[in-house]
Amino acid sequence: MKALKLIGPGKIQIQEVPVPEIGPDEVLIKVVGAGLCHSDLHILHQGQDWPFFGTTMGHETAGHIESLGTHVTDFAVGDPVLVHAVWACGQCRPCSVGRENACSVNGSRNQFPLTPGIGADGGMAEYIKARAKHVDRLGAVDVVTAAPLADAGLTPMHAIRSVRDLLLDDSTVVVIGIGGLGHIALQILRATSRCRIIAVDIDEARLAAARRNGADQVLHAGSDAVRTILAESDNYGVDVVLDFVGAQSTIDFATGVVAPEGAIRIVGLAGGSFPFNASLEGEVLPWGVNVQRSYGGTPADQAEVLALVAEQRVNVDVVKYPLAEAQRAFDDLEAGRISGRAILVP
Ligand SMILES: [Zn+2]
Ligand SMILES: [Zn+2]
Repeated sequence: MKALKLIGPGKIQIQEVPVPEIGPDEVLIKVVGAGLCHSDLHILHQGQDWPFFGTTMGHETAGHIESLGTHVTDFAVGDPVLVHAVWACGQCRPCSVGRENACSVNGSRNQFPLTPGIGADGGMAEYIKARAKHVDRLGAVDVVTAAPLADAGLTPMHAIRSVRDLLLDDSTVVVIGIGGLGHIALQILRATSRCRIIAVDIDEARLAAARRNGADQVLHAGSDAVRTILAESDNYGVDVVLDFVGAQSTIDFATGVVAPEGAIRIVGLAGGSFPFNASLEGEVLPWGVNVQRSYGGTPADQAEVLALVAEQRVNVDVVKYPLAEAQRAFDDLEAGRISGRAILVP
C-alpha cells in the first residue's frame, strides 16, 4: 500500500509499504480521508534528533473497517469509523477518571499520550491499524469529511468544556485563529452556548468564514482589535479567550483582553510565551485568570463532537487533496492558502 512517511527534517515521501498486520484487539481500517493539521507542520520541521522518522504521518483518520482482530466483537466489516488521535491506556489513574489525554501509561509528565502519526503509524496511507478501543463508529456522520473530528473537532471541544462554567448567556468569548480548529470551535460555541463570540484572525477570508461559522463579531488582529474589545467591555475584558495559534502576537492579545477571573486556553503551538510574576505589580494577567495549556481531548469530548455533527449542528469545512499530492497540501497549509481543513484522500 501507499503511505506518506516522514523521512527526515522537512522531508516527506510516499512509499510502498506492507498493509499492517493486526493483533487480536485491533482493527484494520481502509482510509477514506486523513486530515492535515498545523501540528504536522511542526513535526515536519523538527530537527535531526526527532525520534519518529520513518513513521506514517496523520493523526486525523476516518475510513471503513476492513478486518477485525479475533477478540473484536463490537464492530463489523464495512463500518464507517473515526480513529482517535489520543491513544490512552484506558486503565491508569488519569484514564479511569476521564482524563485520558493525561494518560500516565501511554504518556508521561513531559510527553502526551501515544498518537497515530507520532510514534505509531498514522492515517496518511491506504490502511491504518488501531486498537478497537481507539475507534468510534461514525453512524450518521459522513465518513468523507469526518477525519478532522479526531483533532480539529476534539481539541476545541476539550478546551471549551473546560471553560463551560464561564460561558453564561451574557459572557463574551474571543476565538483567535479561524483555521481548522478555530472554525469548528466557533460552531461548538454557537451550538452549546448563547454567549457573545468574537473571532480574531489576520486573514479576511478566514474572518468571512468565521461569520458563516457563528461569530457575532469579527476583528482583524492588531492593536486596534485589543482596544476595540476593551472599549466595548468598559475596559474590563472578556470572560474566555481560546488561542488556536499560540504565537507571541496572539498570546499578547489573549493576555491583553482577558477579564479578571477569566480563562485563557492556549491550543496552538506557534512558540509564544508570557511572563508570570507572583507580585503585586507588573503581572500581565488580571487577578484570578486561569490559563491552561490545552492538549487534545478525551473519549467523552469525542462523543460530544460526534453527536453535534450527527445533529448537523457542526460541519467541517474541507478541501480534498489526493494522497499523491500531499506535498502540495503541506505547502498550501504552510502558506496559509487553506480555509477549513485539508484532507488527504488515498
Ligand atoms: Zn493536530
Ligand atoms: Zn492511561
